Amino acid sequence: MKTINSLGDLTGKKVLVRSDLNVPLDGTTITDDGRVRASVPTIQTLLDAGAAVIVMAHLGRPGGEPKPEYSLAPAAARLSELLGQPVTLADDLVGESAAATVAALEPGQVAMLENVRYDARETSKVDAEREELATALAGLADAFVSDGFGVVHRKQASVYDIAKQLPAAAGTLVENEVESLSRATTNPERPYVVVLGGSKVSDKLGVIANLLGKADRLLIGGGMVFTFLAAKGHSVGKSLLEEDQIEAVKGYLKTAEESGVEIVLPEDIEVASAFAADAEHKSVPADQIPDGWIGLDIGPRASEAFSAKIADAKTIVWNGPMGVFEFEAFAGGTKAVAQAMIDSDGFSVVGGGDSAAAVRRLGFDEDGFSHISTGGGASLELLEGKVLPGLAVLED
Ligand code: ADP
Ligand code: MG
Repeated sequence: MKTINSLGDLTGKKVLVRSDLNVPLDGTTITDDGRVRASVPTIQTLLDAGAAVIVMAHLGRPGGEPKPEYSLAPAAARLSELLGQPVTLADDLVGESAAATVAALEPGQVAMLENVRYDARETSKVDAEREELATALAGLADAFVSDGFGVVHRKQASVYDIAKQLPAAAGTLVENEVESLSRATTNPERPYVVVLGGSKVSDKLGVIANLLGKADRLLIGGGMVFTFLAAKGHSVGKSLLEEDQIEAVKGYLKTAEESGVEIVLPEDIEVASAFAADAEHKSVPADQIPDGWIGLDIGPRASEAFSAKIADAKTIVWNGPMGVFEFEAFAGGTKAVAQAMIDSDGFSVVGGGDSAAAVRRLGFDEDGFSHISTGGGASLELLEGKVLPGLAVLED
C-alpha cells in the first residue's frame, strides 16, 4: 500500500484528504470526538510537509442533497481547536464556494469541503456518476490521501474513484489500522480469542463463518446471543432474534465443533421487563429466559467466564458491546470484557463504532488497548478476509 512518503515533496502542494469525521451529534454538539482526534496526525503530517490541506468527509445520511443538520460545521470547529489553527469550511462540495476557498488556501493552511454526501454522485452505483464527481474533486488538488478508515470498504467517489485520478496514498490512520488488524488476522499469536456482540446481528454472522477457520475461541454476547440460544432450542422471550439466521447458526455450531473451535455462549443473561434504563431486571440461566422478558446483557457468571477466556489470550479482537451498555444496569458484560482485555498481556483490538464509544463512555483508558479501530464495517470486512475497494486502489 502506498503511503504519504510515496507522494514525494509536498511543499506548496494542495492535498485532498478523505477523513472519517462521522461523529455522533446532539444538535450541533459532538458527543464523541474520537474520529476528529483520529484525523489529526495525518493532517498535521501534511501541514508539516509544507502542503495545504483540503479535508473532505461525510456526516450521516443526508441522502444526496444539502441539509443543514448534516453540515460538517461542528467537525470543522473541533478540528480547528485540535489543530490550533483555523479550518475554513466551504459552503459546498465542488461548487463556487469550494473553488474560492481552495484558491485562497496557502501552504500550512486547512480548509474543509461540505459533506460529500450532499452530492448524490458520491454513493452512486453508476461508475460514470461517481467518476464525474471524483474528477471535480480532483480538480481542486494535486494529490489525494485516504485516511477515512471507516469508509475504505465503500466504493464511493471520495474514497475509491478519486484515488484513480490523483497521485494517491494511505494516511497514517489507514496505515495504522491495516497494520493492527492484519496482525490480528494473519498469523495471530495464539490463543486467538474473538469476542462478538452488538446489535447488527446479520452483518456479523458473516464474520463468524470466516473466523471459524482462524480463531481458537469465539465468545458470543450482545444481541447475537439469542439467535444462538434459539438455535440450541431455547426460548428467548422478547430478546433480539434473527429467525432467518437460526439455520446458519446451527451450521456454525456444527462446524465449530468439528474444527475444534470453542464457541462460548453466556451461561446467564440479564433480562429486563422492558427496553428501558429503569426497567425491572434480573439474571437468569441462559436456557430459562422467561416469556415476555428481554435479554439486555450477558449475566454476571457469563461476565466472569468471558473474562477468564480472555485472560490467557495472546490475541483478542472485540467487536460489539455485550449488552445495552448505554443503560447502566446492562453495562456489566461490556465492562467485564473491556477490563479483561486491559488486564491481559495479549495484543488487544477493539473494532466497531459503538464498542469504541463504549470504551470511552464507560471510562476506560484507551491506552489500555493495543488498538482501537475507528472503522466498524471496514474492520469487520478486514476480519472477514474481504478485499476492501478503498485499500485495493492504494496498492502500488
Ligand atoms: P459496533 O458499532 O461496536 O459494531 P453494533 O452497532 O453492532 O456494535 O451494536 C451496538 C449496539 O448493540 C449498542 O447500542 C447496544 O445497545 C446494542 N446491544 C447490545 N446488546 C444488545 C441486546 N442484548 N439487545 C439489544 N441491543 C443490544
Ligand atoms: Mg454500531
